[in-house]
Amino acid sequence: MDVIAELTSLIGADAVLTAPSDLDAVTEDWRGRYRGPALCLARPANAGQVADVVRCCAKHGVPVLPQGGNTSLCGGAVPSETGPAPVILSLTRMRAVRAIDPVNNTMEVEAGCVLATVQEAAAAAGRLYPVSLGAEGSCQIGGTIATNAGGTSVLRYGNTRENVLGLEVVLADGTVWSGLYGLRKNNTGYDLKHLFIGSEGTLGIITAATLKLHPLPTRHAVAWVGMASPEDALTLLTRVQERSAARLSAFEMINRLQLDLVVGHVPGRRSPIESEADWHVLIELSDNGSGEALDAELQAILEDAFADGLLSDAALAASEAQRHAMWEVRHSVSEANKKAGVGLTTDCAVPLSAVPAFIAGATAAVRALVPDLPVIVVAHLGDGNVHFIPFFTFDAWEAAASGDRDALAAALRHAVNDEAARLKGTFSAEHGVGRVQLAEMARYKASAELALMRAVKQALDPQNIFNPGRLLPPG
Ligand SMILES: Cc1cc2nc3c(=O)[nH]c(=O)nc-3n(C[C@H](O)[C@H](O)[C@H](O)COP(=O)(O)OP(=O)(O)OC[C@H]3O[C@@H](n4cnc5c(N)ncnc54)[C@H](O)[C@@H]3O)c2cc1C
Repeated sequence: MDVIAELTSLIGADAVLTAPSDLDAVTEDWRGRYRGPALCLARPANAGQVADVVRCCAKHGVPVLPQGGNTSLCGGAVPSETGPAPVILSLTRMRAVRAIDPVNNTMEVEAGCVLATVQEAAAAAGRLYPVSLGAEGSCQIGGTIATNAGGTSVLRYGNTRENVLGLEVVLADGTVWSGLYGLRKNNTGYDLKHLFIGSEGTLGIITAATLKLHPLPTRHAVAWVGMASPEDALTLLTRVQERSAARLSAFEMINRLQLDLVVGHVPGRRSPIESEADWHVLIELSDNGSGEALDAELQAILEDAFADGLLSDAALAASEAQRHAMWEVRHSVSEANKKAGVGLTTDCAVPLSAVPAFIAGATAAVRALVPDLPVIVVAHLGDGNVHFIPFFTFDAWEAAASGDRDALAAALRHAVNDEAARLKGTFSAEHGVGRVQLAEMARYKASAELALMRAVKQALDPQNIFNPGRLLPPG
């Protein structure tokens, strides 16, 4: 029996899709930049069926590519153009919220749950699942765990790794490892869940998770601020941290070009302030106290900063609708950039104190390669995570194509990532490695680290069936 026939007998004909109309959407990435053929799309209904799929693929020597919401920004979730076509394994049928324990502050969910559904279910129980990002309406909890996603609330709540207490994972031999602990303390040897968090589908299939919940903030104060420089933004961040401490839940920065692209390309988005400022910052405080007190606290910080010449303009959201509108602008950056042209997204993090030097150095480095090249900056400033994006309009990118576009893109990425490395930073802060950053792994990772990672991969997936050609460069 061939692999498709065997999968069909194991999980049912309606769960094994081969029609081009079913495969089109899952074989091309969110930006439409990467695509490759798949043998079929398998949609198991439970962990036992996931194990059946994995065993069957292992027997036939067919790669398994787990796919969540397919929102990866580094080509991690779609097949390669070359090499054996994989079975794409989708967990969209496994989307139950199994249980919420508001006393223990935990929830157990299946991996196919969309992130926004997880947030809503937690909120309905008066709790917060804090991981939040622009793709939350379509990315799955399994995908966010597999990539250790960051987003806009890391400075207060940590990244995904810090919000996962337990996992259920299907291993390469089909064993279902149930590690769905809901414990804050559990020193019983190696903490295996951390191997799978951030492993990008290369070590096992995450089928369920126990997540850490937090008190649901009932009050928010949000401001949009125009500033002259990243240095000023950093000074303001330090002041807000000193005065508001744990109430600071987001501090996001974009440059003028990014704001213009959002306003110009995403219907309904407007600049929250009338300002010619080159840098724009969104600040959020949240708490369970009085909303007016929180507004007053943020307003006082901004008035002092204005008096000291740190900012040129600011607007404090006066209603839930205004708060939502400010966040909509921030969350629309990827959509705007996709519509506006070709942005070569990088994903660096540097020590906070080095962010201004990084932005200046990366700008100089890319303009040494392409004079006057526009650059987009989107920073989760509170985390030192800067998406520095050399940007081409579609026409400019076509013109650049007379040379070798791939080589140009690689040279620009290296120029940016070299600057991060010089400042003791990383080339991959939150999106993962996927296929886009494979060359960077080879370029920046110490050989001892790569050797350890290969040893882990060999131990957990000796046949190399899980997501081959991703995360680990050829050794
Ligand atoms: C508009 C937009 C905004 C974004 N903003 C952010 C941001 O602020 N911060 C951030 O960190 N990322 C961001 N991203 C990137 C992306 O949303 C995240 O990486 C997200 O975590 C991917 O989830 P997904 O379900 O779409 O996974 P996919 O893209 O489908 O897969 C990502 C990787 O995880 C693996 N995988 C998926 N599910 C499983 C599973 N169940 N078991 C094992 N492996 C699995 C895949 O094989 C692949 O390697 C953004 C993307 C978009 C499009």
